[in-house]
Amino acid sequence: MKITAALSGRGGDAPELVELEQEAPRAGEMRIRLVATGICHTDLHEHPGRHSPQPIVLGHEGAGVVEELGEGVTGFAVGDHVILSGNSCGTCPSCLAGRPTYCDLAMPLCFGGKRMDGSTALCAGEEAVHSHFFGQSSFASHAIVPQRTAVKMDKDLPLEKLGPLGCGVVTGAGGVIEALKVGFGDTIAVLGTGGVGLSAVMAAKLVGARRIVAVDLSDERLELAREFGATDTFRGDQDDLASAIRQVTGRGVDFSFNTTSAPAVHTLALEVLAMNGTAGFVAAPLGEWAPQMFAMLAGGRQLRGILGGDANPQTFLPLLAEYWRQGQLPFDRLLTFYPFTEIERAWADAKSGAAIKPVLLMETEHDA
Ligand SMILES: [Zn+2]
Ligand SMILES: [Zn+2]
Repeated sequence: MKITAALSGRGGDAPELVELEQEAPRAGEMRIRLVATGICHTDLHEHPGRHSPQPIVLGHEGAGVVEELGEGVTGFAVGDHVILSGNSCGTCPSCLAGRPTYCDLAMPLCFGGKRMDGSTALCAGEEAVHSHFFGQSSFASHAIVPQRTAVKMDKDLPLEKLGPLGCGVVTGAGGVIEALKVGFGDTIAVLGTGGVGLSAVMAAKLVGARRIVAVDLSDERLELAREFGATDTFRGDQDDLASAIRQVTGRGVDFSFNTTSAPAVHTLALEVLAMNGTAGFVAAPLGEWAPQMFAMLAGGRQLRGILGGDANPQTFLPLLAEYWRQGQLPFDRLLTFYPFTEIERAWADAKSGAAIKPVLLMETEHDA
């Protein structure tokens, strides 16, 4: 069938809206009519072509309604509300252990731009267009998704707000709760307060962290961090930042959570740690960087890469929605909505930081 999608890989600063042909869902897949999709930094980085082949439809924070079931799909019905997260194989040791973000096939399944058999779900005339980005390619009116990518959500939740739970929010909240296991009485420094960092601040407050330090270059975002539970905020360009953060507790913090790719911030993330502290990070340093091995050895400090908040989307995303419903995880305050037709403006605002989390609203009516 014909769909509207935003295509990357034909030049241009932002994905371009085009009409494409989409095939029917194959075995184990569903067709989702998208209601909304968030824009994440991974989309911005992939648009010019990095890990994924082109041309491709990006988008991996989709929320929508099940429209058609492929053969053998179980546990879903037409009309179900779903949000989409990453794809995974379901059978490797990581998947079986409930850690699908570390699936052995995560790279080909999320960034390969096709199914494992090499086929794609999209074409433009004779030309194949890559699909299945994170198992979704959700910058589109419709997506063909493997059943494992979809997480069913209650129908009384506002579907248009839920897409960012699948990547940006879970990366921050899961990073704090599931990966670092920050708890009552602990101290944490969140470095970089975009959508991921602010979700981490909310989660640290939710689990009862004693001191929550937030660092950013934007005073406006630091103010938001305070509203969400940060107890101490610092501008990232202040002098002696590491010692100022260490002074908050007198001995450094138990955890740091680095959402940036700046090498200097990766260094800071280790410098602020107390003895036995752990530095979690969600983006690799852009450029040359080496950890201070002696400080890690002498203090038993750890450096920990975290993907997708370590979370199992099937169980963790509904939990996040439940805490939102109770007013304890107000991630919707991070969202700015744009009609799908204004993807260029949304893209520019995501790049410049004018919007913390842009969400595209697809022009489809919402059958509740
Ligand atoms: Zn993402
Ligand atoms: Zn797997």
